[in-house]
Amino acid sequence: MTTITNHMPTAELQALDAAHHLHPFTHGADLARKGVRVITRAEGTTLTDSEGNDYLDAMAGLWCVNLGYGRHELAEAAARQMKELPYYNTFFQTTHVPAIALAARIAELTPGDLNHVFFASSGSEANDTNIRLVRTYWAQKGKPEKQVIISRKNAYHGSSMGSASLGGMAPMHAQGGLPIPGIHHIDQPHWYAEGGDTDPAEFGLQRARALEEAIHELGEDKVAAFIAEPIQGAGGVIVPPETYWPEIQRICDKYEILLIADEVICGFGRTGNWFGSQTLNIRPDIMTIAKGLSSGYQPIGGSVVTDEVAAVLDGCEFAHGYTYSGHPVACAVALENLRILDEEGIVARAGSETAPYLKEKWETLADHPLVGEARICGLMGSIALTPHKDSRAKFAAEAGTAGLICREHCFANNLIMRHVGDRMVISPPLVITRGEIDTLVERAWKALDLAHKQLGDEGLMKAAS
Ligand SMILES: *Cc1c(COP(=O)(O)O)cnc(C)c1O
Repeated sequence: MTTITNHMPTAELQALDAAHHLHPFTHGADLARKGVRVITRAEGTTLTDSEGNDYLDAMAGLWCVNLGYGRHELAEAAARQMKELPYYNTFFQTTHVPAIALAARIAELTPGDLNHVFFASSGSEANDTNIRLVRTYWAQKGKPEKQVIISRKNAYHGSSMGSASLGGMAPMHAQGGLPIPGIHHIDQPHWYAEGGDTDPAEFGLQRARALEEAIHELGEDKVAAFIAEPIQGAGGVIVPPETYWPEIQRICDKYEILLIADEVICGFGRTGNWFGSQTLNIRPDIMTIAKGLSSGYQPIGGSVVTDEVAAVLDGCEFAHGYTYSGHPVACAVALENLRILDEEGIVARAGSETAPYLKEKWETLADHPLVGEARICGLMGSIALTPHKDSRAKFAAEAGTAGLICREHCFANNLIMRHVGDRMVISPPLVITRGEIDTLVERAWKALDLAHKQLGDEGLMKAAS
């Protein structure tokens, strides 16, 4: 067995990767042909690959490295915890200090009376917990027929059977027999793509009232909960019209439907407050958390529930849990992450300084001839690529063709920006500086210029009819 290290030639690493490693959300044969990029180290907002190229990581990994890379305090917190108590579970009347401390800290940070945490190791697991949790809640309240969870098309809630069923991604449902029973999807509040000539405010109301219609259709006595991301992330950073969330809140209150805010991306400073629910004025009964909770340094997630939900659940044994629920090392690292985000004023600054500056710069991209709109909330932003600015037209080419071309130009110009279909999205580390924001937008503009030229040369600037 040879030791595989950073010092091996890239081609050898790529060949081994292609031979043995199955990648998530990747066409394997395509990847093997093109060769995978090997990331070897990272510091702050910068990633380095095995060829020595540096990239500005405008995605914070996968929307998660809120604190930025290279914080040794987190490594030390992990090492300390591993030496003291590397593992113990929280089943069967036991607990440990890192889980106690992290749950208490989360209860302090979350708004209202969201004071109780059920731990998982990821957002997917936490949303699976939520499915069983809300159904158990209603069964405990003597309404076991309240089972259906309403979600939205184009939502992302994870990749496990349950969480991918909550999600509304058609290509995911097409593989493996999804969704599971008892999940209902309504339309998303995506005005740019689906609003047509309707005024955005009116469209926001219409899409919120789709929830009320679904409740009537399914029967009020059958609906357990509604789940949504405050701002859709993986769906393309879709900032809903301002009318949307107040109407959703009204409907959930009126019909006593549990509201689950999936804060996996929006939480921990991403929208300029600790939680997206604060930015958008939402009062959830349950919050899903993961990603920024540990800034990605350790896999950890959870469901945070209100006093009322916890009190109902306390009436039974909730027959659910993961071996690594409240893993001590992950908890210790998350706690250190939260300490730094708070004590260094990183979340506060994200809201008061970083987000306003990024917004000003990001919105200049709307002037680019290839861009139909530039949207941003806090430190999550998107631009829509279009062959015809004024009509918000889609491309005639298959969705994602233009986005992929643009993404490749970003990589070639040392910027990591992701594409979702023909939308480009960003979600940089909260510690990004003004200078780095300038660089981000300069490189994005350059990539757009190059993509625009290539699309023109290849005859792809045609609008769908
Ligand atoms: C990433 C994500 C998840 C799933 O989290 P994993 O840790 O990948 O399982 C759930 N919800 C949202 C909104 C996400 O962005």
